[in-house]
Amino acid sequence: MGTNYDAVVFDNDGVLTTPTDRDVLLAAIASAFDDVGVADPPREHVETLLGPTLSELRRIAAGHEVDPATLWTARERAAVEAQLEEILTGRKRRYDDVEAVDSIDVPTAIVSNNQHRTIANILEHCELDGFEVWYGREPTLEGIERKKPAPYYLERAIDDLGATDPLYVGDSPVDVVASEAAGVDVAFVRRDHRLAADPPTEPQHDIDSLTALPELL
Ligand SMILES: [Mg+2]
Repeated sequence: MGTNYDAVVFDNDGVLTTPTDRDVLLAAIASAFDDVGVADPPREHVETLLGPTLSELRRIAAGHEVDPATLWTARERAAVEAQLEEILTGRKRRYDDVEAVDSIDVPTAIVSNNQHRTIANILEHCELDGFEVWYGREPTLEGIERKKPAPYYLERAIDDLGATDPLYVGDSPVDVVASEAAGVDVAFVRRDHRLAADPPTEPQHDIDSLTALPELL
């Protein structure tokens, strides 16, 4: 660990852009249930679909006699549309300190649990560029299993960059778990919404702003 990292991989939500309002996602999920013919889903089912395991998704879909892949595709499509609206209205926006990323001279990437399409929309509309590689999750049942804390997309990005000692930058306990599973250092970004966060293992770096990054490299 330590200095001379040869790449930097960023989480998106809570690191590069503000997180999406939870109520926006809940409304999107409710509309997805409606799209597949479930007009009045229990609140608990809507909340579980914020971040279900595959077995939770299968159980909920079976209870409504819906194909799990059909329900999940509708959920992801609704989340993409709702978040695009948040991006276009500026409610979901780039953090000011992302400017600091411009002075990083090693290759950079994004690995997010958000939909790949949402990351594409963010790159298009939030003045984020210069990332060589970016992965969001696929809108499929496989995407559920591949998202963090699984290191799947993180390892793919590191492979793509050809990096041997990258730094991962995240704001969530799952980011710390994924980085440990991938065997790479992590910088935990402790913004206002994460002041009380308690990662399961000690991150190598604990920073409150991306402006602290250049000196870690
Ligand atoms: Mg995050």
